[in-house]
Amino acid sequence: MNINKSIELFQRAQSSIPGGVNSPVRAFKSVGGNPVFISKAKGAYLYDADSNQYIDYIASWGPMILGHAQGDVVKAITEQAVHSTSYGAPTELEIDVAELIKSMVPNVDLIRMVSSGTEACMSAIRVARGYTGKNKILKFEGCYHGHADSFLVKAGSGVATLNIQTVPGVTAGVSNDTLTCAYNDLDAVQQLAATHGHELAAIIVEPIAGNMGCILPKPGFHEGLRSLCDEHNIVLIFDEVMTGFRLAKGGAQQVLDIDADLVTYGKVIGGGLPVGAFGGKRHIMEMVAPLGNVYQAGTLSGNPVAMIAGFNTLSILNENPSIYKELEEKTIYLKDGLQQALSSSEIPFVINQFGSMISVHFSAHEVTDFVSAASANNEVFKQFFHAMLNRGIYLPPSPFESWFLNNALTTADLDKTIHAAAESMKEIKA
Ligand code: PMP
Repeated sequence: MNINKSIELFQRAQSSIPGGVNSPVRAFKSVGGNPVFISKAKGAYLYDADSNQYIDYIASWGPMILGHAQGDVVKAITEQAVHSTSYGAPTELEIDVAELIKSMVPNVDLIRMVSSGTEACMSAIRVARGYTGKNKILKFEGCYHGHADSFLVKAGSGVATLNIQTVPGVTAGVSNDTLTCAYNDLDAVQQLAATHGHELAAIIVEPIAGNMGCILPKPGFHEGLRSLCDEHNIVLIFDEVMTGFRLAKGGAQQVLDIDADLVTYGKVIGGGLPVGAFGGKRHIMEMVAPLGNVYQAGTLSGNPVAMIAGFNTLSILNENPSIYKELEEKTIYLKDGLQQALSSSEIPFVINQFGSMISVHFSAHEVTDFVSAASANNEVFKQFFHAMLNRGIYLPPSPFESWFLNNALTTADLDKTIHAAAESMKEIKA
């Protein structure tokens, strides 16, 4: 595959952008090689600067659930742009978005729009601290909640991909307020709550983890967190930046039948524009300014172009709930096909899948937490990633990321992917 223009662009980018990218994992640092620079996308396909076509399993890291440049979403964005791209004043559209979200997620009483998942999680933590009057938070090893200081302790995603143990610039004071447990280890959380419950403002968790590959919660894990939070007056925050509006209308809360106190959103909620949100129970959200004194604000929050993209994307999902079933069926089809394709080699592997989230770890053991994810053979992953990319299949360039399916994918695309996986395995040296 000729990627000469991407090579040239990557060199040029590095003289003006740190590492040539505006978000670290895009640089392919851990898998090596030159990132492909994208020039356009439509439906399930990305096109790079050299006009190569790829089947996209990143979907902009989640948002593009309907496929790229979906007609209704593009039309709505274009129509709004003519009426200005930002007012910094309230609009009816923001009420429409909030009401739509509330109708899709019944336990959200109040919701505040922000511009990224990081902002959403950072703000939710502040609200939890303000509400409880406590300082510490508990997060899970390998979960990623954005790049706010308090989340960078034992974080997944790019922090794990680049194997960064301690992030310079995050003060010891902030780190000391972040306690961690292994994902799925309810006993550890119980012990920690017994000693630190009186200091814990929040437990924040990815209900289905997607930042160490895709990792499923064990039965009873979230139920256990819910009851510990009730017992110790801790705010349970479901970080649904990945899972929100992707797994079901009501996200993981609906699928797992757990009511979190606060929930954070990003990705799908903005239909591909920079949007995040945090919301939840009225008595907690009433802490947020101007109702309460937990200050939080944003120049571009509720931006009309972003809101119209989100509103149209969410409306399509709301009015066509069969999309979730279709997406899941496609993902299971892919999983079954990959299972067969990868079995043609001796290399052990594990495929984890939930709804339209899926990932492959080259491991002989089940992958249920960060330690098991990190002990997979990531040298094999690198080779697999490049072998797939060369065959026009665009996977996340890290085993510490989930793949996301979009609904524009056809059976032919999935078959091509499965075939590419079988061919790729022939090249891989363990
Ligand atoms: N939470 C989760 C679960 C995420 O996956 C991410 C980003 N991948 C974030 C928060 C941060 O979102 P953003 O990149 O929009 O700041």
